[in-house]
Amino acid sequence: MAWLPVLIKSCYFLAALLFILGLKRMSSPRTARGGIVWAGYGMLLAVLATFFLPDMHNRGLIIAAVLIGVSAAWWSGKRVAMTAMPQMVALYNGMGGGAAAAIGAVELIGYVRELGLLHALPDTSPLRPEAWAVNGLPPTLTPVELALGVLGALIGAVSFSGSLIAFAKLQGWLDKRFVFAGQRAVNLLLLAAAVVVGIMLASGHASVPLIVAFFALALLFGLLMTLPIGGADMPVVISLYNAFTGLAVAFEGFVLGNEAMIIAGMVVGAAGTLLTQLMAKAMNRSIGNVLFGSFGAAAGEAQAIEGAQKPIDASDAAVMMAYAERVVIVPGYGLAVAQAQHKVWEFAQLLIKRGVKVKFAIHPVAGRMPGHMNVLLAEAGVPYDLIADMDDINPEFPSTDVALVIGANDVVNPLAKTDPASPIYGMPILDVGNAKHVIVIKRGRGTGFAGIENALFYADNTRMLYGDGQAAVGELVTAVKDIDA
Ligand code: NDP
Repeated sequence: MAWLPVLIKSCYFLAALLFILGLKRMSSPRTARGGIVWAGYGMLLAVLATFFLPDMHNRGLIIAAVLIGVSAAWWSGKRVAMTAMPQMVALYNGMGGGAAAAIGAVELIGYVRELGLLHALPDTSPLRPEAWAVNGLPPTLTPVELALGVLGALIGAVSFSGSLIAFAKLQGWLDKRFVFAGQRAVNLLLLAAAVVVGIMLASGHASVPLIVAFFALALLFGLLMTLPIGGADMPVVISLYNAFTGLAVAFEGFVLGNEAMIIAGMVVGAAGTLLTQLMAKAMNRSIGNVLFGSFGAAAGEAQAIEGAQKPIDASDAAVMMAYAERVVIVPGYGLAVAQAQHKVWEFAQLLIKRGVKVKFAIHPVAGRMPGHMNVLLAEAGVPYDLIADMDDINPEFPSTDVALVIGANDVVNPLAKTDPASPIYGMPILDVGNAKHVIVIKRGRGTGFAGIENALFYADNTRMLYGDGQAAVGELVTAVKDIDA
């Protein structure tokens, strides 16, 4: 069957095309859904083609594993709430990193076994370890493959344990920030030790205890590196691990000689790296600072917040906005929890009909995943030209009559600018406090993701409209309709 390898390579090529075109389609909300389906078909094709590789073993076991994985993913994917999506992404991403690390482990163990066999060769054999200095490493893994395999295993293992910690934090199973004295030094030591052991493995000194030590160090490093990260940094970290997983898969694909893995891994690695950079930039932080600096590292007493929260009822709030010239609506995580996007758009349309200039302002990390608010507003049918990014809208707040904050908290907290002791100090925010009036819809006095008080809620020009996001906006809709009636 000489045509089989050609057919498999062709399938991989087609799969790679589908990955790339799928990713391209994901760049616009209009085509994103189709892009995901295309990339999914690409993955299906690549997996199916792999079953026909001539040196494929244990097909039964692999099919069983695939069935278990697909059922678990299908079941959880169908049930997951939009608000729990980041945890799910972190978990699946961790699985990808773990799979890459597992491939690295299997290859390394196979390599060690090979070494054992080679030791048993006759003294004169050019393949004996003593002869490597002259003849190079055994033919199974070239030095480049060995090095990439070790590197992929290191990155994959870090991504695996780091993503699991990120998952546990987002799920609320772990304290958001876990810090102990000397943590940074311990982390650096662990990383250095993992790299040294990795170099030993890659330079032909492989043994099973060394492999075990290597993975233990890498896993521990991922774990300890992620534990102290909290505040508002989680999105950047998840995105970084996503890039790590992509790279790890690409490196292991190189070791296995599997083109589909190399291309898929590179696409994920590149996209993840870009996203990480964009998010870090939006948060005004360098990636090194996210990983090793951590928000809240600043010492000192937290700033005391003065004043009291001043409530407003829906009819007064509605009147303020109905007679305003400019209203900016700022959605946050609470909008997603309340699923208030349709009601909000209905409300905005009523204002627009009255001649009010309405815009939506989106912070890059509002909600719980990149693009979370964009997705919700697109789902409700809000036109893209009414949606503004942070940098574009911030200069417009001083000329805004009412800023309506719905379920946003950390992303509008002025302490990020004024309080060096705050865990979100340094994060750029939407400057809603500069608007003439601010109305905040939230259920009560609950804190946001960073778990801190918000000075905005106590400001002189802020009024609190307490209630569930959807219900409160529903009341605003009724109240505006009453004015018109
Ligand atoms: P926050 O998490 O800071 O605040 C959400 C607010 O919504 C809470 O204060 C809560 O107050 C309110 N709320 C919750 N449920 C409802 C409801 N049903 N109706 C009305 N209000 C509700 O949200 P932000 O969007 O401002 O900030 C996002 C935070 O999440 C940032 O710290 C960011 O770093 C982090 N993060 C972002 C990720 C991303 O990729 N975008 C990923 C992971 C974390 P109350 O309980 O009083 O109602």
